[in-house]
Amino acid sequence: MSCLFCKIIEGSIPSTKVHEDELCYAFADINPVAPTHVILVPREHLASLDDTDPDHGEMLGHLLLTAAEIARKQNLTNGYRIVINTGEDGGQTVEHLHLHLLGGRELAWPPG
Ligand code: AMP
Ligand code: ZN
Repeated sequence: MSCLFCKIIEGSIPSTKVHEDELCYAFADINPVAPTHVILVPREHLASLDDTDPDHGEMLGHLLLTAAEIARKQNLTNGYRIVINTGEDGGQTVEHLHLHLLGGRELAWPPG
């Protein structure tokens, strides 16, 4: 398996673990763009959100609920942002579906 995030999940590439359970793994982004920058990935390899179907509903809901749980644990009481970059125009660089949890500073809108 040549996928970077699959290697992080299986532990052959090191990461700073933030959370793990039967469906997902969360770790610190190596190049944080905010004081809190966590990546959440499903254990199942899917290239992007564009590869999901209704069977993935439970997993996708679990990712969002887990992101909210991590945000509470990290005391992001002033708010935070969840981002899912998808495809070339979406700025996706790693082809394993992932959520960014960003917080700890005021985030600009609209994004670039
Ligand atoms: P995206 O641009 O949405 O595909 O996001 C990919 C993210 O993965 C970027 O924010 C990178 O900084 C992050 N990233 C790439 N390699 C690693 C790594 N080895 N450990 C942690 N985060 C990584
Ligand atoms: Zn993968």
